[in-house]
Amino acid sequence: MSIQREVKITCPHCDAESPFNIWLSVNTSQDPDLKDKIRDRSLFEFECPYCGEKTAIDYGMLYHQPEDKMIVHYAITQENADEVYHMLTDEDKRSAFSSLFDQNYLIRIVRSRNQLLEKLAEFDAKYDDRMIEIYKYHLEKAYREEHPEAGNVEILFFSTPEGEPMLQIFADGEATGVVPLNNSSYYDLLQRHGIEMKPMQEDSFIVNQDWVNEFFSPEYYEKPSKPKNTSYEIN
Ligand SMILES: [Zn+2]
Repeated sequence: MSIQREVKITCPHCDAESPFNIWLSVNTSQDPDLKDKIRDRSLFEFECPYCGEKTAIDYGMLYHQPEDKMIVHYAITQENADEVYHMLTDEDKRSAFSSLFDQNYLIRIVRSRNQLLEKLAEFDAKYDDRMIEIYKYHLEKAYREEHPEAGNVEILFFSTPEGEPMLQIFADGEATGVVPLNNSSYYDLLQRHGIEMKPMQEDSFIVNQDWVNEFFSPEYYEKPSKPKNTSYEIN
């Protein structure tokens, strides 16, 4: 079920206060038009009725795409992310979600709007988000070799309007470059690691760079395994 709530927004341009609908929960089979409105970010855009200026409004939501058995929960706080994670993993609370597990739902928790849009772009393009994270891990390594001064590096997947898969690199919060995702490198990695992986739906609810470090550790299957070959050069 889609759930919206009206909040008051004070326009940063003219200081006038107006109502704005935020979506706590989006169900795309119930409200199919929301599918595009999330992807083009218009669901996160407040247009002031007084001065006409647009302001981006960030808020968390539960995104549910039942037709593809997919849920992405965007937690606006770490507490909320932890809470949802525990509900999904705690033996006693898990039973509340048994119908989702029975239906083999793909469930992910993300911590930013960019990560929400990234997951949707990945799943729309039928990529495995874990392989994209591994790809990003190697790309970051290559980037750091060329830019040893870079502090915090974040890489986000997106598709161009023509459907070309791309990766945007942010260094210390600044967008510093865009590179196309090389599909043959992607399938190389998939061939190398796919066999070692759990099914996407049975893997962690949180798939990010921490997931990659966990995957590269022997604890991934909670049993000793042979060390993985963790080096790869992306061409
Ligand atoms: Zn205004």
